[in-house]
Amino acid sequence: MFQAAKQSKLQQDGNDDVFFVDNGNTSYRLSLYDQPPLYDVTVEEFETSALDRLRILAEIESSAARNRSWDETKQVTITQCGKYLPLNSNSASGIDIQAERRKDQLGHFVLRLAFCRSEELRRRFTKAETTLFKIRFESDDSNERRAFLNSKDFNWISVSKNEKDEYKGQLQHFISAKMDLDTAFNNEAFYKVKWTTIPDLVEKRKVFLKGGYAYVPAREQASIIYAAFEERLEAALLATSRAIPLVDEDMRLNPILDNLAQGFIAGVPSDWVASAETTGEGITADMVDSLAKQHFPLCMRVLHQSLRKDHHLKHFGRLHYGLFLKVLGLSIDEALAFWRKSFAGGSGSDKFDKEYRYNIRHSFGLEGRRMNYPAKNCLQLHSAHEAGCPYRQLESSPENLQSALLSSYSAQGLTINDLPEIMAQVKKRSYHVACTRVFEITHARSVRKGEGLRDGESVTHPNQYAARSIELEKESKEMEVDFV
Ligand code: SF4
Repeated sequence: MFQAAKQSKLQQDGNDDVFFVDNGNTSYRLSLYDQPPLYDVTVEEFETSALDRLRILAEIESSAARNRSWDETKQVTITQCGKYLPLNSNSASGIDIQAERRKDQLGHFVLRLAFCRSEELRRRFTKAETTLFKIRFESDDSNERRAFLNSKDFNWISVSKNEKDEYKGQLQHFISAKMDLDTAFNNEAFYKVKWTTIPDLVEKRKVFLKGGYAYVPAREQASIIYAAFEERLEAALLATSRAIPLVDEDMRLNPILDNLAQGFIAGVPSDWVASAETTGEGITADMVDSLAKQHFPLCMRVLHQSLRKDHHLKHFGRLHYGLFLKVLGLSIDEALAFWRKSFAGGSGSDKFDKEYRYNIRHSFGLEGRRMNYPAKNCLQLHSAHEAGCPYRQLESSPENLQSALLSSYSAQGLTINDLPEIMAQVKKRSYHVACTRVFEITHARSVRKGEGLRDGESVTHPNQYAARSIELEKESKEMEVDFV
């Protein structure tokens, strides 16, 4: 990858292409990522492959924060991979398998560049990637998994029958005897590896130690592979961190890498809506009060409540809330009507025209640089000093946060008994996990605990929260109609 990034810099010709060579074909679904990508990609592909992978890794971290069991984590990860990072086996038909593997490989190596920069990032990245590898390993087609393992050198030595018999007394303690012990022993294969490579199994006393080697039963083989994956990735990240100055000089890639690292630190992957397109339709100024009460996340409820109370919002409040409402589906005419009415108590019509009208039209791309700005995502709101994420901003005054939660959501079923669990996530700085839990509690009629917005997905954007909430209400109304 460094070679690639360096090459991209050397060969930069002013357009958006990053130049690599080699076609990047991969024979197996599983990968130890020992070959960096050396093929042509655009800067856009460079970024999106990493963002999509980051969604998966962030969800793996969220699963740990939410104390999901291994089976739940596996289920959520497989579902999210199906959406953002599908990786089918060789037997799948009608799918461009090489394109999937190329994206998988590219995303992994881009994230290596982003996350090699500090020990903390390296540790978290290695942990999340190893979990992803384990999930894929467990769910892989068994023939393809065997072929993949045979293609790699894990430095394990197959224990011969003679040697196995020599240590039968010791080795038979490490087999699970569902049948009679002799048959179980004869059926079990053993491998020898340097004991230092599998500290987990040694610590748990799941292997026999002799002459510097650990004798590992075949059913524990996966542990050797996971340890090898982790060890190789740790070493590769360290090597990458030493070479990173080469990439730091690239002005196109550097902001992307910084943004990815920030997203991972905050536990929030990226934009849910990368565009400024609206997600709702037919929303009018008169509907906003009722939508805010039922469907808005805490950040936007707080802004709506202050607007109603003070008939005013400061600059960043107007900006964040205005963009949110735009993406929610408020047209420019309805937005002007909404803001004119909202300011009416404190601002006369002339003042509104002079001070605010231009800014509202500007945010719709109708003035100035004519850019249709997207709404702010959770990552941006977490780092905002003003009008940002309340879970973050009120972290140091838990009483205020708790009373904001109760006053905003008690009509939707949130009670004082729910607060400890939410505050525990805030304390861990997993703000989006706290927000996701509030979503589950306030939509308990349709959403089970742990299900998140959908299929275990966590909140990463206020508009994603509102859009899913509106969608659930629509679904439940349709079900009621069908029932009648
Ligand atoms: Fe808003 Fe995101 Fe914070 Fe939820 S986690 S309150 S959606 S910024």
